Amino acid sequence: MPEQPLLIALVSVQFFVHALGWAMTARMSRGWCGVEGHFALCWCLLAAGLALFVPPWPSGSAPRNLADLIIVTASVVENRGLALHWGRRPRPHAYAAGLAIVAACVAGSFLIDNGHGLRVAVVCFGCAACMAANARLLWRWGRAVTPVFAAAAAVGYGVLGAVLCARGVQALMLGASTRISIDAPGNASIPLAIAVLFIGGLINVIHIRLVLGRVLHRLGLQARTDELTSVLNRRGLLQQLEAAHADACQGKAGYALLMVDVDHFKAINDRHGHARGDEVLKAVAASLRAAMRNDDLVGRWGGEEFCALLPRTRLHDAEPLAQRVAARVAACGAGVDVTVSIGVAEYGPTDRDLQAVIRRADDALYQAKAAGRNRVVSAGSDAPVPAHPTPPA
Ligand code: GH3
Ligand code: MG
Ligand code: MG
Repeated sequence: MPEQPLLIALVSVQFFVHALGWAMTARMSRGWCGVEGHFALCWCLLAAGLALFVPPWPSGSAPRNLADLIIVTASVVENRGLALHWGRRPRPHAYAAGLAIVAACVAGSFLIDNGHGLRVAVVCFGCAACMAANARLLWRWGRAVTPVFAAAAAVGYGVLGAVLCARGVQALMLGASTRISIDAPGNASIPLAIAVLFIGGLINVIHIRLVLGRVLHRLGLQARTDELTSVLNRRGLLQQLEAAHADACQGKAGYALLMVDVDHFKAINDRHGHARGDEVLKAVAASLRAAMRNDDLVGRWGGEEFCALLPRTRLHDAEPLAQRVAARVAACGAGVDVTVSIGVAEYGPTDRDLQAVIRRADDALYQAKAAGRNRVVSAGSDAPVPAHPTPPA
C-alpha cells in the first residue's frame, strides 16, 4: 500500500481505539446517551470517515463525500457531548438542521461542474462551526472549574476552527485545483495526516481531562458530604476547621464553633420510628443551614450531632446566632417537637490545636445538656441561656 493511505489507515485505527476506550467508559458509567457515549460515537464516526479515504475506495468518488459528511456528523456529536458535560440543554433540532444543510450543499455540489471546491468548503465550514461552538462552551462553562485548562482548550478549538475556515475559503477560491488534502498524491499529505493524528490525540486528551475531572470532583464531593442530610460530613468539616484554625494561628481572623445536639433524639426514634427520625435529622440540618450566614459551614458530626464553623466570628456574635439556630430548629416543622442543645466556643490565641477548641465547645454542650437541654451555653460562660420554651411533653 502507498504511504498516504497506510498513514490514514493508522490514524483511523488510532481513532477507533479512542472509540473503544470511550465505549468501555460509557458502559461503566452513564450509558450511550451520556457524555462518554457521545465521545465513543464521535471517535467511531471519525475512524469510519477516515477509513473511507483508504483503498479500495477510489479517490474523488462518492465514498469520499460520504466520509466528509460522516466527519461533520462526528463534530456535531462531539459538540453535543461537550454540551451535555456542562448540563446544557440538548438541541437535536438545531443540530439536525445544520447537518441537513451540509448534506444538501454536498449533494448540490454534484450538480455543479467542478463542485469539488464547494464540497470541501461546506464540510470545512460545518466542522469549523462545531469547533467554534466547542470553544464557546469551554470558555463559557469550563473556565469556572478549570480556568487554565479550559481557556487553553477553548483557544485550541478556536484556532482549529479558524484553520478549517481558511481551508474552506481556499477550497472555494481554488476549486478543483485544491490539492492540500489528506489523500492527495505527493508528500504534502503526509504531514497533514500526522497533524490529524496529533490533533486527534490532543482532542482525546481534552475529553479525558473533562470527564476524569468531573468524576474526581463528584467523588471528592461524595467523600465530604453526608448522604442523609446533604451537609458536610465529619471529614469534610474537619478539613475546613483545620484550614480555619491554621489561618487563625497565622494571625488571620479567628473563628467560632457551635456543637449542636438534638435533645432526646432516641425518644423520637422510639416513638415515631427510625424513618421519621431520619426526616427529623434532615429538617434539623436544613434549619441549621437556613439560620447560618453565607460563609458559615455546617457539618454532621455524627449521629444526631452537628457542628458549625463560623469564620471571622467572636463568641459574642456566635451566641445570638446559636439562639437563632435553636429557634429555627424548634420551628422546623418536622412533624414532631424538636429542640437542640448548643455549645459555643471561639478560637483563642493560646489554642495551639483545633482539638482544644472542639473540646471546649463539647464541654459547653455537655453543660447545656446537664442544665436541662434546649439551651445555648458558651464556653467560659457560667450562665446557661434557655434557647426556646421547652415544647410540651
Ligand atoms: P440527649 O438529649 O442526651 O442527646 O439524648 P439523645 O437521645 O438525643 O442521645 P442518645 O445518644 O442517647 O441517642 C442518640 C440516638 O440517635 C441513638 C441513635 O439510634 C440515633 N441515631 C444516630 N444516628 C441516626 C440516624 O442516622 N438516623 C436515626 N433515625 N437515628 C439515629
Ligand atoms: Mg442527642
Ligand atoms: Mg448525641
